[in-house]
Amino acid sequence: MRFPVLFLSGLCLALAQEPPAHQKLISTLWVQTSVEWQVSCRQSFLAARHALDASISDPSSTAAIEQAAHDPASLRNLPLAIIVDVDETVLDNAPSQARQVKAGVGFDLALWNQWVSESKADPMPGAAEFSRYAAARGVTIFYVTNRDANQEAATRSNLRRHGFPLSLNNDTVLCRSERTEWSSDKSTRRSFIGATHRILLLIGDDLGDFLPGARTTAANRQILAAPYQEYWGRKWFLIPNPSYGSWEDAIYNVPKPQDPGEQLKQKLSALRP
Ligand SMILES: [Mg+2]
Repeated sequence: MRFPVLFLSGLCLALAQEPPAHQKLISTLWVQTSVEWQVSCRQSFLAARHALDASISDPSSTAAIEQAAHDPASLRNLPLAIIVDVDETVLDNAPSQARQVKAGVGFDLALWNQWVSESKADPMPGAAEFSRYAAARGVTIFYVTNRDANQEAATRSNLRRHGFPLSLNNDTVLCRSERTEWSSDKSTRRSFIGATHRILLLIGDDLGDFLPGARTTAANRQILAAPYQEYWGRKWFLIPNPSYGSWEDAIYNVPKPQDPGEQLKQKLSALRP
């Protein structure tokens, strides 16, 4: 009976020593294969239609805290707008995550730039239909993205391919660094839009799509979000992104480790068993 015992203990050792799967494997599979992810996205965009109608009917309503201090009377006559993020909000980059998983690499700027230049991201479920509904109601859609300014043409081409409304008169694709004050924190871009439009809704996959200062610790993010509970599902709509975001960076010590092994170690120590 020694052989089976040795065999089993060897098998257990082999399993214990199995290298960890890629850190984006399960999140990418959820996005690429599950009905649950599709439904999560669609129900947000369907709820956003109702919220859009309600915001149009309330002429003093604004979704941007950067616009909250404006005199309500001054908002009344402004043209209407909504602000949407691009990546993982209206365009689905899961194939780019899948390439990382298959190649066994972490985020790589060259791979990302290659993916963006292909302009072939699919629309997020429900996003294009919602955007066209908003445009049909006379609302301008601003795409506020942390894609770099030099990726605007590829981004426009990708959006256009799926019928997302793009203004012929204004630049409605506002990229990071397009102006010097447009940092990755989107607050300055929300203020810029709020100077000329009443902002009805914000839609994004990251806390930074709604509030300034989201790149901070996990505990500070809770404090930051706490005063705005009544905004969610009314003025703010969050699309689930389990693959990356400022929530992930909040797990790591500053500066963020580049080594995947060290990232995994810090992720494990953030768990609460
Ligand atoms: Mg995004």
